[in-house]
Amino acid sequence: MAEELEGVPTAEEIERHPMDELLRTERLPHIWCPGCGLGTALSCFASALMRSGLDLDNVAVVSGIGCTGRVAGYLRLDGFHTTHGRAIPFATGLKLANDDLRVIVFSGDGDLIAIGGNHFIHAARRNMDLTVICVNNFNYGMTGGQVGPTTPTHARTSTSPRGNLDHPFNVPNLAAAAGATYVARWTVLHARRLEKSIHKALLKQGFSVVEVISPCPTLYGRFNRSNYGTDMMAYYHRQAIVRQDVQPWEADTELGGEIICGEFVDIERPTFHDRLQGMFGNLHPSEDLQLLHRPPVELEAPSTDIKGSEATPSKLEVGWTGPSPSPASLSPPGGEEAASKATPIRPERPAQDGSVTGVARGGRLGKGVEVRLCGFGGQGIILAGRIAGAGAALYDGREVTLTRSYGPESRGGACSAALIISDAPILYPHVSRPGVMVAMSQEAYTTYREQLAGDGVLLIDADLVEPDPGADQRAIPIPATRIAEHELGRRIVANIVMLGALTALTEVVSEDAMRKAILDSVPEGTEELNVRAFEMGYAYAREMLGEGNDSADAPRPRLGGGPCSEQPL
Ligand code: SF4
Repeated sequence: MAEELEGVPTAEEIERHPMDELLRTERLPHIWCPGCGLGTALSCFASALMRSGLDLDNVAVVSGIGCTGRVAGYLRLDGFHTTHGRAIPFATGLKLANDDLRVIVFSGDGDLIAIGGNHFIHAARRNMDLTVICVNNFNYGMTGGQVGPTTPTHARTSTSPRGNLDHPFNVPNLAAAAGATYVARWTVLHARRLEKSIHKALLKQGFSVVEVISPCPTLYGRFNRSNYGTDMMAYYHRQAIVRQDVQPWEADTELGGEIICGEFVDIERPTFHDRLQGMFGNLHPSEDLQLLHRPPVELEAPSTDIKGSEATPSKLEVGWTGPSPSPASLSPPGGEEAASKATPIRPERPAQDGSVTGVARGGRLGKGVEVRLCGFGGQGIILAGRIAGAGAALYDGREVTLTRSYGPESRGGACSAALIISDAPILYPHVSRPGVMVAMSQEAYTTYREQLAGDGVLLIDADLVEPDPGADQRAIPIPATRIAEHELGRRIVANIVMLGALTALTEVVSEDAMRKAILDSVPEGTEELNVRAFEMGYAYAREMLGEGNDSADAPRPRLGGGPCSEQPL
């Protein structure tokens, strides 16, 4: 074995990349295209950070979405890959919670200057102590090369094939005008100067911004006759000029024009934190607002009483005593023709003994309950959540939060409306363990069913969801879509039918409140149809409970009744 010589690196040391310490090498290779400038931007940042002397345990990197958004994941630092446009508010939260942190926002022009543009200017106005590295490739690269807020006028993109009509944002000017304390722009060709500027920005107090103009040959370049990264670097070489004597507003970018680079702003002014300390001393603002001393809200599963049941079980029992019927068993026997002559849709009971025991109906649900309504886009899930929330808040006088999520598709994607309904103030709106869940699509059922609390209430659309036979949960099948289609002639009111069943079975919102909220929320001219839908769902569930309808006039679901005469939605 060769002896190690003093001062001579070992083979292992030679193989190690000088930036290995800062990179999550297990994540490599990266996803970026050949010729992309992001590798250079990351390398300049890593190098500047290592030279900065900052304690890496006190450094956090926050990225938004898109190609640049991957940076946070490749760095061996505390890193956060946040939602679209929200990198700056996320970073602001980190900094406010822990002023010892050096927080860096590393994101793209689309993320920071389009959807995140408002956050960008307000963080600059407040002079939040953050460093922002904005990689500008003049388009939305990851999502297909669409026109963005920095796309030069006349430049072609996938959504501006004849050339962009708009004037682009000048990022240094925007940052300077809004109040940033340090502003610079370089291309990735100016690697040394870029690294120096990032180094300076990292050590600067206040809102510092470094714009990095970077090639995206795969998309922006392809649309603008620069197919290779080297073409774009050659372009920067020709067109970029370093000017320290220009004002930021003179640094507009034009297609085929000069790219003015340099340091535009380097000033001092009090940061947000300085002003905060001037006002509160060392008191944390959350203490001043007494947020830290509020009692936590206890969320409970639905109560265990079963109103109207002779034998009240000691523990909440939900659903059928036998196996859950499959969607096939809930189809109209004999097909559509037979269905049209059939008896009303009634709660179908398992074959064993024909009894229903323990469908939950708990009256007012303790101090609070989490509720999740989920299905696919176009079913009116979000509207149902809004109605339930409005009913509980406006007419039952309870505290309510509503959070919504849906996929990028306008129709057909998964969506969910999550509510917390409580008698006490709600400090955090995240729903993680719902006590009540309604699933109106198989995908939503599969996605969310494991969140349901152990003794929670699960309602499913009988025809659209096939419950997992191995699941340790009992699902209550409500043929909401079938009632809406066959009884009301409008599939679109299946969500309201389901709200009727939900109200009857759980009373998370009172019947009266839900009815009023529906009337407030549905389009004019459809009130009657929607109220009937609600009543049919309610009646179905009441019958399931063996309670019948309160009102002799209440409509009962009839199978295959054909379109009704109500005004269409
Ligand atoms: Fe880079 Fe463009 Fe590829 Fe994204 S799409 S990795 S910005 S070259």
